[in-house]
Amino acid sequence: MQPVHLTGLSQAELSDFVASLGEPEYRARQIFSAIHARRVMSFDAMTDLPKELRATLVQRTLLSTFKLESRYISTDGTRRYLFKTRDNFPVETVFIPEERRDTICFSSQSGCPLQCTFCLTAQLGLLRNLTAGEIVEQIIFALNDAYGEGVQTPRGTNLVGMGAGEPFLNFDNLMKTIRIMNDTSGLHIVPNRITVSTAGIVPRIRDLATIADRPHLAISLAAPNDELRNELMPINKKWPIEELLSACKEFEKSLKPNEQFTFEYVMLRGVNDSDAQARQLANLLNRHALRAKVNLIPHNPAEPLPYQPSPMERVESFREILESKGVHAFIRRPRGRDIFAACGQLAARSETGLSAAPS
Ligand code: SF4
Repeated sequence: MQPVHLTGLSQAELSDFVASLGEPEYRARQIFSAIHARRVMSFDAMTDLPKELRATLVQRTLLSTFKLESRYISTDGTRRYLFKTRDNFPVETVFIPEERRDTICFSSQSGCPLQCTFCLTAQLGLLRNLTAGEIVEQIIFALNDAYGEGVQTPRGTNLVGMGAGEPFLNFDNLMKTIRIMNDTSGLHIVPNRITVSTAGIVPRIRDLATIADRPHLAISLAAPNDELRNELMPINKKWPIEELLSACKEFEKSLKPNEQFTFEYVMLRGVNDSDAQARQLANLLNRHALRAKVNLIPHNPAEPLPYQPSPMERVESFREILESKGVHAFIRRPRGRDIFAACGQLAARSETGLSAAPS
């Protein structure tokens, strides 16, 4: 019998499992709260459970399944973890401490099947989808590494699904993770504190709009026209910009009064960063009258990617053009560049021999 991975069970599923062991219902609540509220990752430390039950759990279930391969700490405090799953696939997670809140950038897949040409993860191809338990485990691990098991975190936590993989190609496990995170007896990270980023899987954008307690949406755009986007993000050949933006228009109906969605635009020197392209992007977004902002992301150069980052003055002038045409645009400050934790840099680097120095 396959062991049950407890971090991926909702409270209701945990109740069923505990009932199948002949244990009373309140044991499920105790176990859920130990894992998700106190972030206890060993059965020995669940001292409120009887010894016999702990012994059964050791035999029948799994708590922590990852093997930590490397841990890197950036000069700016960002931490990057490289794990191996039980079946030996790489998983990366990034913890970004900020003044008011921490952000955890989690991966939804090991590798990624999409072939965005500015992204290192693309070079791995898809290895496999991660389970909900494996996504939750990344979050618990990062919090425990930063603060210690069982220790109350001093700040709130934001989650972003922007690590390795295309989250919308692992939609069910992603949504299950979000429901587990939102449980008030657990970590209670509400969907309003979670953003998922897609390369543009149109049917799932429509599905997300129908979910009442849904996370925020970000879309990686990277180009103002189909010709260039086909080159940078080949998924565009399947769902071109007009189709993508019309799904966004429908998604807009699900936005709350002060909510916007985000377009991520990676800035590649001499490729997508000209004044003319800024005007084309502003016209495109204005034509669809979308309640959206644009995040300009300085590209993180990394061998063997063929791109260089746009100079900061270029990024600033691109932003000014967007603003002058009524499109809200922000420049995202890159974090953890020195440890390959920044956007588009996740690619199991210690595997490929391109490693940063572990802490
Ligand atoms: S940018 Fe995202 S969707 Fe594109 S290849 Fe990289 S991980 Fe996959």
